[in-house]
Amino acid sequence: MTALSPINKVNLLGLDKKALQHYFVQIGEKPYRAEQILKWIHVNGVNDFHAMTNISKSLRQKLADTAEISTPQVLFEKAASDGTHKWLLKLHDGNCIETVFIPEKTRGTLCISSQVGCILNCDFCSTGKQGFNRNLTSAEIISQLWIAARHLSASNGVHDHAITNVVMMGMGEPLLNLDNVLPALDLMLDDHAYGLSKRRVTVSTAGVIPALSQLRAASDVSLAVSLHAPNDELRNQLVPLNKKYPLAELMKACRQYFSDDRRSIVMEYVMLDNINDSPMHAKQLIKLLQGMRVKINLIPFNPFPHTSYQRSKTETIEAFRTLLLNAGYNTTVRKTRGEDIDAACGQLVGEVKDRTRRHERYLRKHQSSHASSIHTEN
Ligand code: SAH
Repeated sequence: MTALSPINKVNLLGLDKKALQHYFVQIGEKPYRAEQILKWIHVNGVNDFHAMTNISKSLRQKLADTAEISTPQVLFEKAASDGTHKWLLKLHDGNCIETVFIPEKTRGTLCISSQVGCILNCDFCSTGKQGFNRNLTSAEIISQLWIAARHLSASNGVHDHAITNVVMMGMGEPLLNLDNVLPALDLMLDDHAYGLSKRRVTVSTAGVIPALSQLRAASDVSLAVSLHAPNDELRNQLVPLNKKYPLAELMKACRQYFSDDRRSIVMEYVMLDNINDSPMHAKQLIKLLQGMRVKINLIPFNPFPHTSYQRSKTETIEAFRTLLLNAGYNTTVRKTRGEDIDAACGQLVGEVKDRTRRHERYLRKHQSSHASSIHTEN
């Protein structure tokens, strides 16, 4: 029998425990091998079957012939002055994605991507302006954690920089890629892999309603919803997905999400100067969220080239927060990190081979308006 060509090799990196057990049974091995391999790959960071010393030589060879542990290539990495670390990862098809690590005193958060670009085109988000190419595979999603964990444990005394939290707040909309996101979430929580607490793994969504109940049924991770506006008119403009899934339906889905008292949701709200940050908006928000057990996270807007939005003033954010606090909502303001390396929320762009031509249109529009403003000044 000829060996399988490399193209047909299974990438074990993206398989969760169940899928790995299935794989081992298929190749005539015992399912408990799955836990051994998970540990080698995800705890020890090993990507060479021949280094897996508690596995017999013949099985190691069999694995090397039929499977691979393949990660994207680190094209570039950069550390910001505040300790934030960004990786640009090149995928096998030439697309690039970004991953960011944010160290804090008591935790380390890795922000990972779920798609190459994003189809949703939220008006204030730089990723959206890059257009969209494709969903990431589960191997490409978990690779981001694998690469970051390996890098951080090699370069530091591990403990002060270890990854304790993962947020799916990088490029893309995770709930539009649930089939590949779910196995990656399983690996994050699995004690034989990353063993993260379910409270410390967060999926952030712009509100893909049908996928919310699927996520709820399949995983215990935490949920964040990108709300950003308290009424449909404004939300249609900021988050175009709202035209498909308007606020009343989204709120209903969120109420169902935590109906069994186990879960709570973080509502994310980007603070855009003179757009959504007035006391009137705060009051509308309070009314919208009435009776819901939510935490509100205010995100100061992070600018990117050609955007017309500006960050709300610090006093405005504080006044907005005070109104929400007085109404009984636990409200925090997200610290902006990694700005000097364009690693802050909404600034991740990677390198997207755009299939939507949105990026081209965006640049054309802004180049022509730039040209006309120069013309007017003359
Ligand atoms: N598609 C998902 C996850 C990616 S965005 C979602 O919409 O939730 C992750 C978070 O960063 C979201 O809350 C998003 O609205 C916010 N964000 C996007 N662009 C931003 C910007 N320019 N400044 C600040 N936050 C931004």
